[in-house]
Amino acid sequence: MEHVTAVPSWAMFAYLVSGVLFILALRGLSSPATSRAGNRYGMIGMTIAMVTTLLTHGVASLPEIVGALAIGGGVGFVTARKIKMTDMPQLVAAFHSLVGLAAVLVGLAAYLNPQAFGIAGADGIIEPQSRIEMGLGIAIGAITFSGSIIAFLKLAGKMSGSPIMLPGRHVLNLGTLIAILGLVAYFTQDQSQWVIATITVLSFIIGFLLIIPIGGADMPVVVSMLNSYSGWAAAAMGFTLHNTAMIITGALVGSSGAILSYIMCKAMNRSFISVIAGGFGAAPEAAGGAAKEQRPWKRGSAEDAAYMMKEAENVIIIPGYGMAVSQAQHALREMGDVLKKEGVNVKYAIHPVAGRMPGHMNVLLAEANVPYDEVFELEDIQSEFSQADVAFIIGANDVVNPAAKTDKSSPIYGMPVFDVDKAKTIFFVKRSMGGVGYAGVDNDVFYMDQTMMLLADAKKMVEDIVKALAH
Ligand code: NDP
Repeated sequence: MEHVTAVPSWAMFAYLVSGVLFILALRGLSSPATSRAGNRYGMIGMTIAMVTTLLTHGVASLPEIVGALAIGGGVGFVTARKIKMTDMPQLVAAFHSLVGLAAVLVGLAAYLNPQAFGIAGADGIIEPQSRIEMGLGIAIGAITFSGSIIAFLKLAGKMSGSPIMLPGRHVLNLGTLIAILGLVAYFTQDQSQWVIATITVLSFIIGFLLIIPIGGADMPVVVSMLNSYSGWAAAAMGFTLHNTAMIITGALVGSSGAILSYIMCKAMNRSFISVIAGGFGAAPEAAGGAAKEQRPWKRGSAEDAAYMMKEAENVIIIPGYGMAVSQAQHALREMGDVLKKEGVNVKYAIHPVAGRMPGHMNVLLAEANVPYDEVFELEDIQSEFSQADVAFIIGANDVVNPAAKTDKSSPIYGMPVFDVDKAKTIFFVKRSMGGVGYAGVDNDVFYMDQTMMLLADAKKMVEDIVKALAH
Protein backbone atom coordinates (compact mmCIF):
# COMPACT_ATOMS: atom_id res chain seq x y z
CA MET A 1 0.00 0.00 0.00
CA GLU A 2 1.29 3.42 -0.82
CA HIS A 3 1.28 5.80 2.13
CA VAL A 4 0.58 9.35 1.15
CA THR A 5 2.01 10.46 4.48
CA ALA A 6 5.04 8.15 4.62
CA VAL A 7 6.93 8.92 7.82
CA PRO A 8 10.71 9.48 7.48
CA SER A 9 12.96 7.45 9.73
CA TRP A 10 14.07 10.44 11.84
CA ALA A 11 10.42 11.06 12.66
CA MET A 12 9.96 7.42 13.67
CA PHE A 13 12.94 7.87 15.97
CA ALA A 14 11.48 11.10 17.41
CA TYR A 15 8.18 9.28 18.08
CA LEU A 16 10.10 6.54 19.82
CA VAL A 17 11.88 9.11 21.99
CA SER A 18 8.57 10.71 22.91
CA GLY A 19 7.17 7.24 23.71
CA VAL A 20 10.07 6.59 26.09
CA LEU A 21 9.50 10.01 27.69
CA PHE A 22 5.80 9.16 28.21
CA ILE A 23 6.79 5.93 29.95
CA LEU A 24 9.22 7.90 32.17
CA ALA A 25 6.39 10.36 32.85
CA LEU A 26 4.10 7.58 34.08
CA ARG A 27 6.93 6.16 36.16
CA GLY A 28 7.56 9.59 37.69
CA LEU A 29 3.87 10.14 38.44
CA SER A 30 3.72 6.95 40.49
CA SER A 31 5.26 8.74 43.50
CA PRO A 32 4.69 12.28 44.83
CA ALA A 33 8.46 12.75 45.20
CA THR A 34 9.11 12.24 41.48
CA SER A 35 5.82 13.52 40.06
CA ARG A 36 7.15 16.95 39.03
CA ALA A 37 9.96 15.34 37.03
CA GLY A 38 7.35 12.96 35.58
CA ASN A 39 5.22 15.88 34.44
CA ARG A 40 8.22 17.49 32.78
CA TYR A 41 9.07 14.28 30.89
CA GLY A 42 5.48 14.16 29.68
CA MET A 43 5.53 17.78 28.48
CA ILE A 44 8.83 17.33 26.62
CA GLY A 45 7.57 14.08 25.07
CA MET A 46 4.35 15.74 23.91
CA THR A 47 6.25 18.72 22.44
CA ILE A 48 8.54 16.38 20.48
CA ALA A 49 5.54 14.36 19.22
CA MET A 50 3.62 17.47 18.17
CA VAL A 51 6.55 19.18 16.44
CA THR A 52 7.40 15.94 14.60
CA THR A 53 3.82 15.53 13.42
CA LEU A 54 3.65 19.14 12.26
CA LEU A 55 6.93 18.84 10.34
CA THR A 56 6.06 15.58 8.61
CA HIS A 57 2.36 15.95 7.82
CA GLY A 58 1.52 18.71 5.39
CA VAL A 59 -2.23 18.22 5.90
CA ALA A 60 -3.19 21.64 7.20
CA SER A 61 -1.48 24.98 6.77
CA LEU A 62 0.60 26.51 9.57
CA PRO A 63 -1.88 29.33 10.37
CA GLU A 64 -4.68 26.75 10.67
CA ILE A 65 -2.62 24.65 13.05
CA VAL A 66 -1.39 27.57 15.13
CA GLY A 67 -4.93 28.98 15.21
CA ALA A 68 -6.37 25.68 16.42
CA LEU A 69 -3.61 25.29 19.02
CA ALA A 70 -4.18 28.84 20.25
CA ILE A 71 -7.95 28.36 20.61
CA GLY A 72 -7.72 24.90 22.23
CA GLY A 73 -4.70 25.78 24.37
CA GLY A 74 -6.29 29.10 25.39
CA VAL A 75 -9.52 27.44 26.54
CA GLY A 76 -7.48 24.77 28.39
CA PHE A 77 -5.27 27.39 30.04
CA VAL A 78 -8.15 29.54 31.25
CA THR A 79 -10.14 26.51 32.45
CA ALA A 80 -7.16 25.04 34.33
CA ARG A 81 -6.48 28.36 36.08
CA LYS A 82 -10.10 28.97 37.02
CA ILE A 83 -11.12 25.48 38.08
CA LYS A 84 -11.53 24.81 41.78
CA MET A 85 -9.68 21.73 43.05
CA THR A 86 -13.01 20.27 44.18
CA ASP A 87 -14.38 20.49 40.63
CA MET A 88 -11.44 18.61 39.18
CA PRO A 89 -13.17 15.20 38.76
CA GLN A 90 -15.92 16.62 36.54
CA LEU A 91 -13.32 18.57 34.56
CA VAL A 92 -11.39 15.35 33.97
CA ALA A 93 -14.62 13.65 32.85
CA ALA A 94 -15.39 16.58 30.52
CA PHE A 95 -11.89 16.41 29.01
CA HIS A 96 -12.23 12.65 28.46
CA SER A 97 -15.39 13.31 26.50
CA LEU A 98 -13.39 15.60 24.19
CA VAL A 99 -10.77 12.89 23.62
CA GLY A 100 -13.57 10.49 22.66
CA LEU A 101 -15.17 13.06 20.35
CA ALA A 102 -11.78 13.77 18.72
CA ALA A 103 -11.36 10.05 17.97
CA VAL A 104 -14.83 9.96 16.38
CA LEU A 105 -14.14 13.04 14.26
CA VAL A 106 -10.71 11.81 13.12
CA GLY A 107 -12.25 8.43 12.26
CA LEU A 108 -15.07 10.02 10.26
CA ALA A 109 -12.61 12.35 8.50
CA ALA A 110 -10.48 9.34 7.53
CA TYR A 111 -13.60 7.57 6.27
CA LEU A 112 -14.70 10.53 4.15
CA ASN A 113 -11.24 11.25 2.72
CA PRO A 114 -9.27 7.99 2.95
CA GLN A 115 -6.69 8.92 0.33
CA ALA A 116 -5.51 11.89 2.38
CA PHE A 117 -4.83 9.48 5.25
CA GLY A 118 -3.05 6.98 3.00
CA ILE A 119 -5.50 4.17 3.68
CA ALA A 120 -7.09 3.85 0.24
CA GLY A 121 -5.97 3.68 -3.37
CA ALA A 122 -7.23 5.93 -6.18
CA ASP A 123 -10.50 3.92 -6.31
CA GLY A 124 -11.35 5.08 -2.76
CA ILE A 125 -11.65 1.49 -1.47
CA ILE A 126 -10.39 1.51 2.13
CA GLU A 127 -8.09 -1.31 3.26
CA PRO A 128 -10.13 -3.90 5.26
CA GLN A 129 -7.66 -3.72 8.13
CA SER A 130 -8.03 0.08 8.30
CA ARG A 131 -11.80 -0.34 8.32
CA ILE A 132 -11.59 -2.49 11.45
CA GLU A 133 -9.30 0.05 13.18
CA MET A 134 -11.56 2.89 12.08
CA GLY A 135 -14.77 1.13 13.16
CA LEU A 136 -13.36 0.20 16.57
CA GLY A 137 -11.78 3.63 17.08
CA ILE A 138 -15.05 5.41 16.29
CA ALA A 139 -17.05 3.00 18.47
CA ILE A 140 -14.75 3.33 21.51
CA GLY A 141 -14.48 7.09 20.96
CA ALA A 142 -18.26 7.51 20.83
CA ILE A 143 -18.76 5.38 23.96
CA THR A 144 -16.11 7.47 25.73
CA PHE A 145 -17.81 10.69 24.59
CA SER A 146 -21.35 9.97 25.72
CA GLY A 147 -20.29 7.98 28.81
CA SER A 148 -18.03 10.82 29.95
CA ILE A 149 -20.84 13.35 29.51
CA ILE A 150 -23.04 11.32 31.88
CA ALA A 151 -20.10 10.97 34.32
CA PHE A 152 -19.58 14.76 34.10
CA LEU A 153 -23.27 15.49 34.77
CA LYS A 154 -23.34 13.10 37.74
CA LEU A 155 -20.10 14.37 39.27
CA ALA A 156 -21.10 18.02 38.78
CA GLY A 157 -24.41 17.30 40.53
CA LYS A 158 -26.37 18.33 37.41
CA MET A 159 -27.85 14.85 37.31
CA SER A 160 -28.76 12.57 40.21
CA GLY A 161 -25.84 10.42 41.34
CA SER A 162 -28.24 7.56 42.01
CA PRO A 163 -28.23 4.71 39.54
CA ILE A 164 -30.96 4.94 36.89
CA MET A 165 -32.06 1.40 36.13
CA LEU A 166 -33.83 0.66 32.87
CA PRO A 167 -35.78 -2.60 32.78
CA GLY A 168 -33.95 -5.36 30.89
CA ARG A 169 -30.86 -3.19 30.61
CA HIS A 170 -28.36 -6.07 30.61
CA VAL A 171 -30.03 -7.67 27.57
CA LEU A 172 -30.34 -4.27 25.88
CA ASN A 173 -26.67 -3.41 26.53
CA LEU A 174 -25.35 -6.80 25.49
CA GLY A 175 -27.51 -6.76 22.34
CA THR A 176 -26.28 -3.29 21.38
CA LEU A 177 -22.63 -4.22 21.97
CA ILE A 178 -22.98 -7.37 19.85
CA ALA A 179 -24.68 -5.31 17.12
CA ILE A 180 -21.77 -2.82 17.14
CA LEU A 181 -19.15 -5.58 16.89
CA GLY A 182 -21.18 -7.30 14.15
CA LEU A 183 -21.37 -4.04 12.20
CA VAL A 184 -17.60 -3.46 12.57
CA ALA A 185 -17.04 -6.95 11.10
CA TYR A 186 -19.56 -6.26 8.31
CA PHE A 187 -17.84 -2.92 7.62
CA THR A 188 -14.82 -4.86 6.29
CA GLN A 189 -17.07 -6.15 3.49
CA ASP A 190 -19.18 -3.09 2.85
CA GLN A 191 -17.89 0.44 3.37
CA SER A 192 -21.29 2.08 2.85
CA GLN A 193 -22.10 5.19 4.83
CA TRP A 194 -25.04 3.62 6.66
CA VAL A 195 -22.72 1.07 8.30
CA ILE A 196 -20.33 3.62 9.80
CA ALA A 197 -23.23 5.94 10.69
CA THR A 198 -25.04 3.13 12.53
CA ILE A 199 -21.86 2.12 14.38
CA THR A 200 -21.43 5.76 15.50
CA VAL A 201 -25.02 6.24 16.64
CA LEU A 202 -25.26 2.88 18.44
CA SER A 203 -21.96 3.59 20.22
CA PHE A 204 -23.16 7.00 21.41
CA ILE A 205 -26.29 5.29 22.75
CA ILE A 206 -24.43 2.46 24.50
CA GLY A 207 -22.15 5.03 26.18
CA PHE A 208 -25.21 6.65 27.78
CA LEU A 209 -26.76 3.29 28.65
CA LEU A 210 -23.58 1.93 30.24
CA ILE A 211 -22.96 4.86 32.59
CA ILE A 212 -26.54 5.83 33.56
CA PRO A 213 -27.06 2.80 35.87
CA ILE A 214 -23.76 3.34 37.67
CA GLY A 215 -24.21 4.93 41.09
CA GLY A 216 -22.22 7.79 42.58
CA ALA A 217 -20.09 5.60 44.83
CA ASP A 218 -18.66 3.84 41.78
CA MET A 219 -17.90 7.04 39.86
CA PRO A 220 -14.16 7.02 40.67
CA VAL A 221 -13.82 3.70 38.87
CA VAL A 222 -15.94 4.94 35.97
CA VAL A 223 -13.79 8.03 35.50
CA SER A 224 -10.59 6.00 35.29
CA MET A 225 -12.31 3.41 33.08
CA LEU A 226 -13.39 6.15 30.64
CA ASN A 227 -9.84 7.47 30.75
CA SER A 228 -8.72 4.01 29.68
CA TYR A 229 -11.31 3.91 26.86
CA SER A 230 -10.15 7.29 25.58
CA GLY A 231 -6.62 5.84 25.35
CA TRP A 232 -7.75 2.79 23.38
CA ALA A 233 -9.77 5.01 21.04
CA ALA A 234 -6.65 7.11 20.40
CA ALA A 235 -4.53 3.96 19.86
CA ALA A 236 -7.04 2.61 17.32
CA MET A 237 -6.95 5.94 15.49
CA GLY A 238 -3.13 5.81 15.63
CA PHE A 239 -3.29 2.61 13.57
CA THR A 240 -5.61 4.23 11.05
CA LEU A 241 -3.35 7.26 10.74
CA HIS A 242 -0.14 5.18 10.82
CA ASN A 243 1.02 7.39 13.65
CA THR A 244 3.38 5.57 16.03
CA ALA A 245 3.27 8.29 18.69
CA MET A 246 -0.52 8.03 18.87
CA ILE A 247 -0.40 4.24 19.12
CA ILE A 248 2.16 4.36 21.94
CA THR A 249 0.43 7.19 23.82
CA GLY A 250 -3.01 5.64 23.38
CA ALA A 251 -1.80 2.26 24.60
CA LEU A 252 -0.10 3.86 27.63
CA VAL A 253 -3.23 5.82 28.56
CA GLY A 254 -5.41 2.77 27.89
CA SER A 255 -3.39 0.37 29.98
CA SER A 256 -2.61 2.77 32.84
CA GLY A 257 -6.31 3.72 33.04
CA ALA A 258 -7.25 0.03 33.12
CA ILE A 259 -4.68 -0.67 35.86
CA LEU A 260 -5.96 2.32 37.89
CA SER A 261 -9.55 1.05 37.52
CA TYR A 262 -8.39 -2.35 38.77
CA ILE A 263 -6.57 -0.81 41.77
CA MET A 264 -9.63 1.29 42.63
CA CYS A 265 -11.96 -1.71 42.33
CA LYS A 266 -9.70 -3.52 44.76
CA ALA A 267 -9.68 -0.48 47.07
CA MET A 268 -13.48 -0.50 47.13
CA ASN A 269 -13.65 -4.28 47.24
CA ARG A 270 -15.80 -4.34 44.11
CA SER A 271 -15.41 -6.49 41.05
CA PHE A 272 -14.97 -4.69 37.75
CA ILE A 273 -17.92 -6.58 36.28
CA SER A 274 -20.21 -5.50 39.13
CA VAL A 275 -19.20 -1.85 38.56
CA ILE A 276 -20.02 -2.14 34.86
CA ALA A 277 -23.26 -3.98 35.61
CA GLY A 278 -24.23 -0.89 37.65
CA GLY A 279 -26.94 -0.31 40.21
CA PHE A 280 -24.54 0.25 43.10
CA GLY A 281 -25.47 2.99 45.59
CA ALA A 282 -29.24 2.90 45.06
CA ALA A 283 -31.49 4.98 47.34
CA PRO A 284 -28.88 5.61 50.01
CA GLU A 285 -30.64 8.54 51.69
CA ALA A 286 -33.27 6.36 53.36
CA ALA A 287 -30.81 4.05 55.06
CA GLY A 288 -29.57 6.01 58.07
CA GLY A 289 -31.85 9.02 57.97
CA ALA A 290 -34.46 7.94 60.50
CA ALA A 291 -32.12 7.08 63.36
CA LYS A 292 -30.01 10.21 62.89
CA GLU A 293 -31.66 12.65 65.30
CA GLN A 294 -32.31 10.34 68.22
CA ARG A 295 -28.89 9.01 69.09
CA PRO A 296 -26.71 10.88 71.61
CA TRP A 297 -23.41 12.37 70.50
CA LYS A 298 -20.76 14.59 72.07
CA ARG A 299 -19.62 17.95 70.86
CA GLY A 300 -16.00 18.95 71.38
CA SER A 301 -14.18 22.26 70.99
CA ALA A 302 -10.88 23.34 69.43
CA GLU A 303 -9.47 23.58 72.96
CA ASP A 304 -10.47 19.96 73.74
CA ALA A 305 -8.79 18.77 70.57
CA ALA A 306 -5.66 20.82 71.21
CA TYR A 307 -5.35 19.55 74.76
CA MET A 308 -5.89 15.87 73.91
CA MET A 309 -3.56 15.90 70.93
CA LYS A 310 -0.78 17.68 72.80
CA GLU A 311 -0.93 14.93 75.41
CA ALA A 312 -1.04 12.16 72.79
CA GLU A 313 1.80 9.95 71.66
CA ASN A 314 0.34 8.92 68.28
CA VAL A 315 -2.07 10.98 66.21
CA ILE A 316 -3.42 9.74 62.87
CA ILE A 317 -5.02 12.36 60.63
CA ILE A 318 -7.60 11.11 58.10
CA PRO A 319 -8.35 13.78 55.49
CA GLY A 320 -11.28 13.58 53.09
CA TYR A 321 -13.33 15.60 50.66
CA GLY A 322 -14.24 18.28 53.25
CA MET A 323 -10.56 19.16 53.69
CA ALA A 324 -10.43 19.87 49.96
CA VAL A 325 -13.64 21.94 50.09
CA SER A 326 -12.37 24.17 52.86
CA GLN A 327 -8.74 24.14 51.66
CA ALA A 328 -7.62 23.22 55.15
CA GLN A 329 -4.40 21.46 54.09
CA HIS A 330 -2.04 24.35 54.94
CA ALA A 331 -3.54 24.89 58.39
CA LEU A 332 -3.44 21.12 58.88
CA ARG A 333 0.27 20.99 58.07
CA GLU A 334 0.82 23.79 60.56
CA MET A 335 -1.08 21.82 63.20
CA GLY A 336 1.06 18.75 62.43
CA ASP A 337 4.24 20.83 62.77
CA VAL A 338 3.21 22.18 66.18
CA LEU A 339 2.28 18.70 67.41
CA LYS A 340 5.57 17.26 66.19
CA LYS A 341 7.42 19.96 68.12
CA GLU A 342 5.54 18.75 71.19
CA GLY A 343 6.93 15.26 70.56
CA VAL A 344 3.74 13.81 69.08
CA ASN A 345 4.07 11.20 66.36
CA VAL A 346 1.85 12.50 63.52
CA LYS A 347 0.82 10.40 60.49
CA TYR A 348 -1.63 11.00 57.66
CA ALA A 349 -3.83 8.12 56.48
CA ILE A 350 -4.96 8.33 52.86
CA HIS A 351 -7.79 6.20 51.53
CA PRO A 352 -7.57 5.35 47.81
CA VAL A 353 -10.98 6.93 47.14
CA ALA A 354 -10.83 9.79 49.65
CA GLY A 355 -11.90 13.07 48.07
CA ARG A 356 -13.30 13.13 44.57
CA MET A 357 -10.48 11.88 42.36
CA PRO A 358 -7.60 9.43 42.56
CA GLY A 359 -4.69 10.99 44.46
CA HIS A 360 -6.83 14.00 45.52
CA MET A 361 -5.57 14.05 49.11
CA ASN A 362 -1.95 13.35 48.12
CA VAL A 363 -1.95 16.34 45.79
CA LEU A 364 -3.35 18.69 48.43
CA LEU A 365 -1.00 17.49 51.17
CA ALA A 366 1.98 17.77 48.81
CA GLU A 367 0.85 21.32 47.93
CA ALA A 368 0.98 22.12 51.66
CA ASN A 369 4.47 20.56 51.93
CA VAL A 370 3.44 17.73 54.21
CA PRO A 371 6.51 15.42 54.21
CA TYR A 372 5.91 12.31 52.06
CA ASP A 373 7.18 9.98 54.77
CA GLU A 374 4.29 11.04 57.04
CA VAL A 375 1.69 10.04 54.44
CA PHE A 376 0.50 6.42 54.47
CA GLU A 377 -1.82 4.33 52.33
CA LEU A 378 -4.65 2.31 53.83
CA GLU A 379 -2.93 -1.07 54.00
CA ASP A 380 0.23 0.43 55.50
CA ILE A 381 -1.46 2.25 58.38
CA GLN A 382 -4.55 0.16 59.12
CA SER A 383 -2.83 -1.87 61.85
CA GLU A 384 -1.68 1.28 63.65
CA PHE A 385 -5.12 2.56 64.70
CA SER A 386 -5.12 0.25 67.73
CA GLN A 387 -2.05 2.08 69.04
CA ALA A 388 -3.34 5.55 68.12
CA ASP A 389 -4.33 7.91 70.91
CA VAL A 390 -6.21 10.16 68.51
CA ALA A 391 -7.82 9.62 65.11
CA PHE A 392 -8.39 13.10 63.69
CA ILE A 393 -10.97 12.83 60.90
CA ILE A 394 -11.13 16.00 58.85
CA GLY A 395 -13.74 16.21 56.11
CA ALA A 396 -13.70 12.45 55.58
CA ASN A 397 -16.83 10.42 56.11
CA ASP A 398 -17.48 7.40 53.86
CA VAL A 399 -13.87 6.22 54.15
CA VAL A 400 -14.23 5.84 57.94
CA ASN A 401 -17.80 4.50 57.98
CA PRO A 402 -17.93 1.10 59.74
CA ALA A 403 -21.20 0.30 57.92
CA ALA A 404 -18.95 -0.70 55.03
CA LYS A 405 -17.79 -3.61 57.19
CA THR A 406 -21.02 -4.62 58.87
CA ASP A 407 -24.15 -3.45 57.07
CA LYS A 408 -24.88 -5.53 53.98
CA SER A 409 -27.63 -3.13 52.93
CA SER A 410 -25.29 -0.12 52.93
CA PRO A 411 -24.32 1.29 49.54
CA ILE A 412 -20.68 1.27 50.65
CA TYR A 413 -20.75 -2.31 51.97
CA GLY A 414 -17.52 -4.10 51.07
CA MET A 415 -15.37 -0.99 50.69
CA PRO A 416 -12.37 -1.26 53.04
CA VAL A 417 -12.48 1.59 55.58
CA PHE A 418 -10.08 2.88 58.23
CA ASP A 419 -10.46 1.18 61.63
CA VAL A 420 -10.83 4.55 63.40
CA ASP A 421 -13.01 2.94 66.08
CA LYS A 422 -9.86 1.25 67.42
CA ALA A 423 -8.30 4.62 68.33
CA LYS A 424 -8.65 5.78 71.95
CA THR A 425 -10.17 9.13 71.00
CA ILE A 426 -11.78 10.25 67.76
CA PHE A 427 -12.18 13.86 66.66
CA PHE A 428 -14.59 14.20 63.77
CA VAL A 429 -14.44 17.53 61.92
CA LYS A 430 -17.46 18.37 59.77
CA ARG A 431 -19.82 21.29 59.47
CA SER A 432 -23.07 19.81 60.80
CA MET A 433 -24.62 16.60 62.06
CA GLY A 434 -27.01 16.67 59.11
CA GLY A 435 -24.34 16.63 56.38
CA VAL A 436 -23.57 13.26 54.89
CA GLY A 437 -20.72 11.94 52.75
CA TYR A 438 -20.80 11.15 49.07
CA ALA A 439 -22.67 7.86 49.57
CA GLY A 440 -25.37 9.73 51.53
CA VAL A 441 -25.42 7.50 54.60
CA ASP A 442 -25.28 8.08 58.36
CA ASN A 443 -22.09 7.15 60.19
CA ASP A 444 -21.99 5.23 63.50
CA VAL A 445 -18.63 6.83 64.36
CA PHE A 446 -20.50 10.09 65.22
CA TYR A 447 -22.19 8.34 68.15
CA MET A 448 -19.32 6.31 69.57
CA ASP A 449 -18.27 6.80 73.20
CA GLN A 450 -14.78 7.95 72.28
CA THR A 451 -15.94 10.36 69.54
CA MET A 452 -16.10 14.14 69.86
CA MET A 453 -17.71 16.02 67.01
CA LEU A 454 -15.91 19.23 66.04
CA LEU A 455 -18.63 20.98 64.09
CA ALA A 456 -17.19 23.80 61.97
CA ASP A 457 -15.61 24.53 58.65
CA ALA A 458 -12.48 22.36 58.53
CA LYS A 459 -10.02 25.20 57.93
CA LYS A 460 -11.53 27.40 60.64
CA MET A 461 -11.51 24.52 63.14
CA VAL A 462 -7.87 23.60 62.45
CA GLU A 463 -6.82 27.26 62.70
CA ASP A 464 -8.58 27.46 66.08
CA ILE A 465 -6.81 24.28 67.22
CA VAL A 466 -3.44 25.75 66.17
CA LYS A 467 -4.26 28.90 68.19
CA ALA A 468 -5.29 26.80 71.19
CA LEU A 469 -2.08 24.76 70.90
CA ALA A 470 -0.07 27.97 71.11
CA HIS A 471 -1.56 28.81 74.50
P1 NDP B 1 -17.23 12.11 51.94
O1 NDP B 1 -17.79 12.67 50.69
O2 NDP B 1 -17.71 10.78 52.40
O3 NDP B 1 -17.50 13.12 53.14
C1 NDP B 1 -17.17 14.45 53.07
C2 NDP B 1 -17.35 15.04 54.46
O4 NDP B 1 -16.80 16.34 54.46
C3 NDP B 1 -18.79 15.15 54.91
O5 NDP B 1 -18.88 14.59 56.18
C4 NDP B 1 -19.05 16.66 54.98
O6 NDP B 1 -19.91 16.91 56.07
C5 NDP B 1 -17.65 17.19 55.21
N1 NDP B 1 -17.40 18.53 54.70
C6 NDP B 1 -17.75 19.07 53.53
N2 NDP B 1 -17.34 20.34 53.43
C7 NDP B 1 -16.70 20.62 54.59
C8 NDP B 1 -16.05 21.78 55.10
N3 NDP B 1 -15.98 22.92 54.41
N4 NDP B 1 -15.51 21.71 56.34
C9 NDP B 1 -15.60 20.58 57.07
N5 NDP B 1 -16.19 19.46 56.63
C10 NDP B 1 -16.74 19.48 55.41
O7 NDP B 1 -15.65 12.16 51.79
P2 NDP B 1 -14.59 10.99 51.82
O8 NDP B 1 -13.36 11.63 51.33
O9 NDP B 1 -14.59 10.29 53.13
O10 NDP B 1 -15.10 9.90 50.80
C11 NDP B 1 -15.02 10.04 49.43
C12 NDP B 1 -16.30 9.56 48.78
O11 NDP B 1 -16.35 10.11 47.47
C13 NDP B 1 -16.37 8.05 48.66
O12 NDP B 1 -17.70 7.62 48.80
C14 NDP B 1 -15.88 7.82 47.22
O13 NDP B 1 -16.37 6.63 46.67
C15 NDP B 1 -16.48 9.04 46.53
N6 NDP B 1 -15.81 9.45 45.32
C16 NDP B 1 -14.44 9.40 45.25
C17 NDP B 1 -13.79 9.74 44.10
C18 NDP B 1 -12.30 9.57 44.03
O14 NDP B 1 -11.78 9.32 42.94
N7 NDP B 1 -11.60 9.74 45.13
C19 NDP B 1 -14.54 10.25 42.91
C20 NDP B 1 -15.97 10.36 43.12
C21 NDP B 1 -16.56 9.93 44.29
P3 NDP B 1 -20.66 18.34 56.26
O15 NDP B 1 -21.41 18.55 54.99
O16 NDP B 1 -21.52 18.16 57.47
O17 NDP B 1 -19.60 19.35 56.48
